[in-house]
Amino acid sequence: MSLDTANQFPNYRGVMEYYCLGCGKRYNMDELHYTCPDCGDVFLLEDKNFHRLGERSGQSWRELFDLRAAAKRQSLRGIFRFYELIAPVLEEADIVYLGEGNTPIILAAPEFSKKLNLNFGYKNDGQNPSASFKDRGMACAFSYLKGMTRKHAWSEVLTICASTGDTSASAALYASYVGGPIRSVVLLPYGKVTPQQLSQPLGSGATVLELPGVFDDCMKVVERLADKYRVALLNSKNAWRILGQESYAFEIAQWCDWELGDKAVFVPIGNAGNITAVMAGFLKLKQLGIIAELPMMFGVQSSHADPVFRYYAQPEGKREYKPVQVIPSVAQAAMIGDPVSFPRVHLLAGRYLEQGGSFNVVQVEEQAIMDAMLMANQHGHIACTQGGECLAGLLQAQECGLIDHNTFAVLDATAHALKFSGFQDMYFNNTFPAEYEVSPRPELMNQPEMLIAEERLTSQAKEAYYDEAANAAAKRLGLKVK
Ligand SMILES: *Cc1c(COP(=O)(O)O)cnc(C)c1O
Ligand SMILES: [Zn+2]
Repeated sequence: MSLDTANQFPNYRGVMEYYCLGCGKRYNMDELHYTCPDCGDVFLLEDKNFHRLGERSGQSWRELFDLRAAAKRQSLRGIFRFYELIAPVLEEADIVYLGEGNTPIILAAPEFSKKLNLNFGYKNDGQNPSASFKDRGMACAFSYLKGMTRKHAWSEVLTICASTGDTSASAALYASYVGGPIRSVVLLPYGKVTPQQLSQPLGSGATVLELPGVFDDCMKVVERLADKYRVALLNSKNAWRILGQESYAFEIAQWCDWELGDKAVFVPIGNAGNITAVMAGFLKLKQLGIIAELPMMFGVQSSHADPVFRYYAQPEGKREYKPVQVIPSVAQAAMIGDPVSFPRVHLLAGRYLEQGGSFNVVQVEEQAIMDAMLMANQHGHIACTQGGECLAGLLQAQECGLIDHNTFAVLDATAHALKFSGFQDMYFNNTFPAEYEVSPRPELMNQPEMLIAEERLTSQAKEAYYDEAANAAAKRLGLKVK
């Protein structure tokens, strides 16, 4: 295998196939497939030539990826720095890059880390273009779709997804950028996405359809549409999205200088696409000798939406998967009772253990999620509620003796804090509806304070008003005269 230079678009091409997790049937990648036409189970995509990548040493791969981190080629600046490991069938001209990936891991503020006696950092995936990790998968899915549209000369492509808010924001953003025959339709559970998330597909010009119910209901409707009509489904059932999201694992490995034996990775589980991708990514690195050891893997679920936790909490050999009825959760983007990717998690968690890794799912309370998010953000982080869920998960793992302060934990701040500021408002104003089971801790609350009465602005000269306001501020803050 020839050594590509870091700035050259890769020469390697794979042969990708969908393979069904239910019956094992394989399907050509030149069709849009979401579930097996034969048995209805979900797919993963596999490169039949993957073993050829093993002709290159782990050391040589590490060097290539490190060199590529400085690549100036547009197509290699984002998730496709790891092109060979993601979707090595895409042509360079089809690659869609909107600045996704390469999100930083921010070490926990030293004071915070000390207070919790834990060694951790937040990987800020809210710093992606639509402010969530979903952009990683969308960049891959849209690059594939762009290639397919070109090859088949399709004149109209309707992309569709159900969403807890972020998938639709991301899909609408990428669709509006690619344009041409591609149009975006999103299906949202009415009142179950935040106003910021709703504004995103609207702002990108997508068709926004709402349904009464929860995400799981929207998903069923979208599945019916994808079964019956010609639409391109962009939920994580779409295995191309999983491939793009693997970049999260590759970036962690590279950030940690490819040394993961003493690391733990915490990911919130909703539809379970993300944790699937993260495990699949680490397994690829291990298989190619790019990393020697797998990091400990932790999935986190709220007790209000915890089917995966419940499955793994049963004794091995007697486990039975059952969907749950969700209860409103502040980790709204993960508020899913019947995760589509459960079969993928099941398969990959098995492989993860076979390869010497560890896999655990921890369950956390809504109160712990909110408290953790607010504490993190009061120490300079920008965690969303799902990021709070990860920290609550780390604290839970610590309490259960699953982790100690010698392990460095990477927590997934899956979206930007601003998308979920409504939950912060409810906490600060003590207006959480009872079903959330959250009551604010006074020391974490915060409120704006009016300095002086409004009529003081109009009732006097501006100078006097400034003096009065400054005096009021000095008094409030207990300032000393210099
Ligand atoms: C989608 C999403 C999740 C859940 O990820 P899954 O892949 O569905 O498990 C968590 N947090 C945020 C912010 C999300 O957008
Ligand atoms: Zn099948």
